[in-house]
Amino acid sequence: MKNVDVIAKNHLFLVAMSLLLPTITSAADSVESNSSTTFPPYNKQQQLQMAVAESLTGGTALLIQDVHPWQTNSIETVLDSWGIDYDIINSTSIAGATLEDYKFIIIASDQPQTFYDNYNAEKEKFATYLRNGGTLEFHAADQGWQSGRWYRLPGGITHEHHSDSSNTIYDDDFDSDNTATLRNKHPIVASMRTPFSGSSASHGHFSNLNVIRSNILIITRDGQNLPTTIEYSYGGGKGRVIATTNTIEFYYGRNSEMKSMLPNLIEYTALKSKMKLDFEGWGWSNPLTTDMYVSQVFLDPKYDLYFNDKAHLGIDIGASVNAPVFSICKGHVVGSPSSVVDDSKGAFLARLTVQCDTGNFAIVYGHITNPKVSLAEGTPVDENQQIAEVRAGASGNSHLHLGINVTGEVYFKGTTWGFGQSPATATFQQVMSHGWRDPVSYLRANNGP
Ligand SMILES: [Zn+2]
Repeated sequence: MKNVDVIAKNHLFLVAMSLLLPTITSAADSVESNSSTTFPPYNKQQQLQMAVAESLTGGTALLIQDVHPWQTNSIETVLDSWGIDYDIINSTSIAGATLEDYKFIIIASDQPQTFYDNYNAEKEKFATYLRNGGTLEFHAADQGWQSGRWYRLPGGITHEHHSDSSNTIYDDDFDSDNTATLRNKHPIVASMRTPFSGSSASHGHFSNLNVIRSNILIITRDGQNLPTTIEYSYGGGKGRVIATTNTIEFYYGRNSEMKSMLPNLIEYTALKSKMKLDFEGWGWSNPLTTDMYVSQVFLDPKYDLYFNDKAHLGIDIGASVNAPVFSICKGHVVGSPSSVVDDSKGAFLARLTVQCDTGNFAIVYGHITNPKVSLAEGTPVDENQQIAEVRAGASGNSHLHLGINVTGEVYFKGTTWGFGQSPATATFQQVMSHGWRDPVSYLRANNGP
């Protein structure tokens, strides 16, 4: 009876709300009826939105700002819309913050000078964060309404102020020759036309790019053909910096060619950011003895050409060939014969599946060789027991693929659903209903024994 009361009260509340807010209620109604009559139930945008949310369960963006850029809360709006959990601090709190707690960090545009002074005083802290595998999304449009000016991006990249009303999508490697072709494929600008314009589409352009020795991807340029959106790695290839002088916060939510750039950027950063993995900290054993970073995130249906729109049903962890692989839990081998480590069938079928005693889920260890345990079904495996070695990768980038499945379906399937990837047409809902989970969020949320 109690539940019925609650439902009745909620229903009355909704009726009252619908009288108070007729437009909002009718908009919600139309969304619901659309989603129930279309198939597949999720479009690509919704699917990606849920993929971002799933891969970030547990937290993990940090937004640093002293004031709202251009007096708009568009960054918070976009983070909320992607379902991304985040904290906000101001620049005086940078000194006391533990940046390593966060998967990625956003610096807002258009901050006062004290903000950039405080950032600059702690710049070594950001460099350390990047060396530990962090991702920095630096919104670098300055000298706006707050008049502040930033100093340097990690690595020493500087900028010159030059407002420009027209930008072009460039999307090519900085260090390639002048025959560069326009690709317009970078996810940050994929849905945009080129050129695109705004009253001040960009506030400044990057300079001194040659201080970064790794490739810098230039994604947009201003009317003088100077770089305004860039992406580069930092810290021995572990950290990633994505920076733009485009006025993305201002144009989000406005009727503008640039309105999709902020959500595209945050989505891209969220899917591409990689965190140092700490299985032991989550209560499990580490599968590798080296520092572990995600080289390919869970799902990621949009960004990896290799998968041809198929979703990636696990995470990849970079590792050297023949690195020992350990079981993260106590359990037993399942799925014979499909869990047989069979090098003759190629990397995708060189896998071993272990059912964990605690948590009622199976772990798929992929791209492995030289098994150290019997592959017979039911063979007991101890936590932290070596089970195999990392196999040489087909394309030279050897890694351990680690998948988690909460159903028994994994055991008997082939190269789709049963191992590394979904069929190309799979929806997020289908991925979930087949039992696949993001290992990072799943293992963090389900502490080991
Ligand atoms: Zn993989």
